[in-house]
Amino acid sequence: MATTLISNGTVVTASETRVADVLIDGERIQAVAPRLTVAADRIIDAAGRYVIPGGIDVHTHLDMPYGDIVSSDDFRTGTIAAAHGGTTAIVDFAVQDRGGSLRGALDGWRRRADGRAVIDYGFHMIVCDFRDAVEREMDALIAEGVTSFKFFMAYPDRLMLDDGAIFRALRRTAHNGGLVTVHAENGAVIDVLVQRARAEGHTAPRYHALTRPARTEAEAVYRAIALAELAGVPIYIVHLSSAEGLQVVREARARGVTVLAETCPQYLFLDDTQYAAPGFEGAKYVMSPPLRARDGQAALWDGLARHDLHAVATDHCPFTLSQKAAGAGDFSKIPGGAPGIETRMSLMFDGGVRAGRLSLNRFVEVTATSPAKIFGLWPDRGTIAPGAIADVVVFDPELEVRLDATALHMRVDYSPYEGMVVRGGPVVVMARGEVVVEDGRFVGRPGRGRFIRRAARSG
Ligand SMILES: [Zn+2]
Repeated sequence: MATTLISNGTVVTASETRVADVLIDGERIQAVAPRLTVAADRIIDAAGRYVIPGGIDVHTHLDMPYGDIVSSDDFRTGTIAAAHGGTTAIVDFAVQDRGGSLRGALDGWRRRADGRAVIDYGFHMIVCDFRDAVEREMDALIAEGVTSFKFFMAYPDRLMLDDGAIFRALRRTAHNGGLVTVHAENGAVIDVLVQRARAEGHTAPRYHALTRPARTEAEAVYRAIALAELAGVPIYIVHLSSAEGLQVVREARARGVTVLAETCPQYLFLDDTQYAAPGFEGAKYVMSPPLRARDGQAALWDGLARHDLHAVATDHCPFTLSQKAAGAGDFSKIPGGAPGIETRMSLMFDGGVRAGRLSLNRFVEVTATSPAKIFGLWPDRGTIAPGAIADVVVFDPELEVRLDATALHMRVDYSPYEGMVVRGGPVVVMARGEVVVEDGRFVGRPGRGRFIRRAARSG
C-alpha cells in the first residue's frame, strides 16, 4: 500500500488546531503527530496550509430525473466538480417511484453512480409513496446502509406526503434507528398562491419566490418538529432558508427537542434581489426554498455559529439555461435547482472564517464533522485522526478562487456567483488515500468512488 506523508501543515478538526504531520497508509490515516520521521512513498509539504477533513456534502441531486429531463451533472462530472472544491464524500438522494419500492429506487441510483463516481457516495431515500410495505422496507434499507429518509411537505401530486405518513415514518425510526429528514414548505398553501399568480397572468421567475413566502417554510418546520416531538425521535430539516424558519428551530431546541437543521451557501450569500433581474435571468436562481431577503442572512450565520444549525450542504441540482427555458412562459415550470457542489468549501471559508463569523474549527464541523456524525459516517470520516479514512484536503487560506462558470467544473453553463472571487481553497485533495485533485488539476479516476454503507443512529 502506498504511503503519503503530509508534513508541516496545520491540522484542523472540529475540536483542535495544531501543527502536525499526517501519515497515510493505503486508504486510512495511520498517524497524526508533530515531526513524524518516517519514510513515505510521497511527501506533500503543507507548510502555511491547513490540513482538514475532506468536505462532506449531504445534499446533492446528481443525474436526477425531473419530468423528461435530468439534472445536468451526472455522478462522474458532479463528483469531479465536488473534488475540485474539496469535497470527498456525498450523500445523494435516491427517489422512490410512485407505486415502486424503495429497493428498486436504491438499485437504480446505485447503477447511476457505479463506474462513474470519483469520490465515495451514500444515499438518502426519498419516500413519495408511503404504504405498509414501504414502511417495513425502511428497516431493510437501513440494514443496507441507507439510514436516512426524506419526506416532502411540498409539491402536492408529485412528492408530498401527508402528516400521517410522515408521523408513521418518524415513529418507525424510534425502533429502526433511521433518521427522517424533511423538505419543509407548506405545499398546499404554496399551490394556492401559485395558481392565483398564474391566473393573474404572472409568468416571470420572480413569482417563484413571491409564491413561496418564508412563513410557508416556518409553518412546515413547526409542524415537522411537532410530529417528531410527538413520536419522540430526532428530525433533520434540509435546506433551511429563512430567519423565520430558524426561529422555530431555536424555540424547539430551547425546550429540549432534538432538531437538526441544515442550511446552504445560497441562503447565506445570495438574496431575493436576484429575482428582480431583467427578462428570464432570475430563472438561474429558481430553487425551493427560494432565496430570501438579505436581512435574514445574519440570523443564519448566527445559527451556524451558535449550533442551532448543524450542517452546510449544497442542494446541488444544476440545470442548464436551455433546460431552465422550459419555464420561459410560466415560472412554475422552471426546473428548480442550482449548482453548488464545487463552491461550498471556499464560500464557507471566505464568508465564514475570513469574515470572522465562524471559527476555523466550526467551519470544519459544519462542512464535514457534523454531517458525518448526523448521517452515520463517523468516525470513519469527518476528522483527521489515526484510523479514519484518508479523505484529506490540504487547504490554502490565501488561494484565490474565481466562482465564474468558466473557472469551475460543474456541467452547467452559468454560475450563481458569477464575477465573485473568494479566498481559500484546496490545493491537494485526497480521497480514500489517493490524490484526486492537485493544484486545480483532476488526477483521479472516474469509477473509483464506492458506495458508503452508513450506520444507523445509536442514541
Ligand atoms: Zn434537494
